[in-house]
Amino acid sequence: MADSITLGKNSIGVGDRFAHQAAAQLRAFLIAADKGVIVVPVWNKSNREHNIIGSEPGSVRAAADRAVRAAAWDKPYHVDADHINFETVDRFLESSDFYTIDVADWIGKPADAAAIAGFVKRHAELAGELQIQGIEKAPQFDTPFVEKTAGKYLAAVKEAGQIYRKIEDRKGKGRFIPEVSMDETDNPQTPAELLVILAAIADEGIPIQTIAPKFTGRFNKGVDYQGDLPKFSQEFADDVAAIAFAVKKYNLPANLKLSVHSGSDKFSIYEPMREALRKFDAGVHLKTAGTTWLEELIGLAEAGGEGLGLAKEIYAQAYEQRDALCAPYAAVISIDAKKLPLPETVRGWSSEQYQNALRHVQTNAEFNSDLRQLLHVGFKVAAKLGAKYLQFLEQFAPTIGKNVTENLYDRHIKPVFIG
Ligand SMILES: [Zn+2]
Repeated sequence: MADSITLGKNSIGVGDRFAHQAAAQLRAFLIAADKGVIVVPVWNKSNREHNIIGSEPGSVRAAADRAVRAAAWDKPYHVDADHINFETVDRFLESSDFYTIDVADWIGKPADAAAIAGFVKRHAELAGELQIQGIEKAPQFDTPFVEKTAGKYLAAVKEAGQIYRKIEDRKGKGRFIPEVSMDETDNPQTPAELLVILAAIADEGIPIQTIAPKFTGRFNKGVDYQGDLPKFSQEFADDVAAIAFAVKKYNLPANLKLSVHSGSDKFSIYEPMREALRKFDAGVHLKTAGTTWLEELIGLAEAGGEGLGLAKEIYAQAYEQRDALCAPYAAVISIDAKKLPLPETVRGWSSEQYQNALRHVQTNAEFNSDLRQLLHVGFKVAAKLGAKYLQFLEQFAPTIGKNVTENLYDRHIKPVFIG
């Protein structure tokens, strides 16, 4: 029998909306490997992205396989069916070996009273004096808390079990990496709630390898973290401690770790994350969003001429369609429409001006986070250009690829895993 598929300690989820940057992304992982730090690439694309672009999950697998072969990458890599549920998982069953089982919509749905009572009875340890090594603020556990938390999350965990077993029936036990995500919801989960959730996941028999809670603060797509940094740091470290405890106590997979659905570019949390990971000798899965597509635009702008022209045209269309483009992402963007430059203004920009406005260098006076977020959700405009856009990606591949690699290595892999 083949070995089971196990996610390595350090891993990053990368998005590649138009399936043209896998090689450039992989170069960033090769640079890290050359420095002795193995970070496992995981190509992720959600059902929502596939629907907007009109692509199929098999294309992500094909692009990843091609890049890996071309670069002779001899370390593991995976393809993540990102944010799937019971209804949407089917078309990912063939090509993925990593499944982000999204049950956020089930949080707070009423659970069976007998199931709650059974959980409380089975987990008397949670209502007692818990000794969690390394936790800064010992959470208050008692029966009412366990009961309340089980009531809030048991339906979600049960649903995760249904989805997990649907995948397992098709792929076989140990033949894929299960993640459970609860991040796309309004309220963050505390480390104490996370522990209750993990106990329930263990009861449900899900050999979970990564868990994606919602953290304190805002994780807007493509821009930096907004929120209470000391509070995040504490929460993150306590989550890591809670996971280490749960692995032993509930016999969960030894490589279980946090998955941070970062939305990319959360520069200010990377240092506290790295410190907590060092302290606990823990791993993390850092999932980024499809911001690679922004590097494509930056590369087009850097190329000048026709490339810059197309980047300006895409901005103009995104500006015109801003309401429709933003609607599906309302919870994860924060755009001040007054700060968006008019398309006429952008038409007059030099290559440098466009790059400076979009490239995520916050110290640059011309950086515009509103424009960056709008373009981030504006990939539908490029998708509609179809073959023309893809032809530009090929024509300007070297300039684009340089930006893709640099962004992933310098601004993500290095600060999180190397320092
Ligand atoms: Zn997510």
